Amino acid sequence: MATKRDYYEILGVERSVDQDEIKKSYRKLALKYHPDRNPGSKEAEAKFREATEAYEILSDAAKRKQYDQFGHAGTQGAGNYENMEDIFTNFGDIFETLFGQGQQRRSRKSGPVPQRGHDLSQKIDISLKESYQGCTKEIKIYHFQPCERCKGSGCKEGSKPTVCSQCQGAGSIMHRQGFFAVDQICPACHGQGFKISNPCSDCREQSRIQKHEKLSVTIPAGIYNNAELRILGKGDAGIFGGESGDLYLTVEIAADRVFSRKGNDLVTTLTLTYPQLVLGCQIEIENIDGGKETIKIPRGCPVAKEIILEGKGFAKLRGHGHGNLIIITTCDIPSKLSEDAKAALMAYAEKVGNSSQQGSGGISGFFKKFLG
Ligand SMILES: [Zn+2]
Ligand SMILES: [Zn+2]
Repeated sequence: MATKRDYYEILGVERSVDQDEIKKSYRKLALKYHPDRNPGSKEAEAKFREATEAYEILSDAAKRKQYDQFGHAGTQGAGNYENMEDIFTNFGDIFETLFGQGQQRRSRKSGPVPQRGHDLSQKIDISLKESYQGCTKEIKIYHFQPCERCKGSGCKEGSKPTVCSQCQGAGSIMHRQGFFAVDQICPACHGQGFKISNPCSDCREQSRIQKHEKLSVTIPAGIYNNAELRILGKGDAGIFGGESGDLYLTVEIAADRVFSRKGNDLVTTLTLTYPQLVLGCQIEIENIDGGKETIKIPRGCPVAKEIILEGKGFAKLRGHGHGNLIIITTCDIPSKLSEDAKAALMAYAEKVGNSSQQGSGGISGFFKKFLG
């Protein structure tokens, strides 16, 4: 995938600007690079497409939020305009308001009314390591795709839907029952107002076909559990050439045996022997991505001490930088000891004495003193 420029940069606006500002900026660029003003210029067309894609995302509150959170990974499928005509079809309304006239807008056909396809949702399982490093996943989806044979018209090549002769395209028929007039759905066209007498042989006038599709999804490093990624246009295809719905992917991250996540921090425990904790040591550990980290255990290190390696945690999805890697010390208490080790430990115990101490202050300490 080619690297894409930042949408805000393309429109030349700050990240905090409101919708008005985004529209104003897009209007300026669209007028400048509009194909009518730059006939035949590939560069102007590329700029025009780029600005349109940025506007498509940033002018839609939900898409903008996705983009702010996940960058381009949150808006996969944006900007897949087949040609300029495609842009004018999808953004006809924008151009109407921008240029004050319905220029280049397709006239609505008499017959089927295009309808947007449904949004779909699916979950995607990844490991904690994959969420740390970011990954590309192949997924399989089953959804409606536009019928290629009839290009979404539902009709056999060369034929067109005809206005229903029974209801004259209204979709309903008035019946008189005594004093009342009752509106009934037209039985001839089932309320559609048109009939396809020569259906497409592939989709049988459905204009779309349910198929399996493989998709490659880029998951950004630092993605958190239950995050929702939106893949534009990968829901169900619309009916009769309507816009496709979107695909929502919920990321489910499997628990890891060694590491866990807390905020943007990566957390793990490190089991040390009593002498290592008391005397201090230097030790090499393996991070979740397989990288080696050398850490220093200070002399007299307590159990449950947090050793922090700054910037070695999860990438922050919002803003820059990384969380930390936090290593929590624990002590290995052996349940079995060799005779030699046991003797050495007894000798050690004699040296330090057998004093024990209950938590200083607090309720238990108070009662202990009170009861003598
Ligand atoms: Zn009818
Ligand atoms: Zn078809």
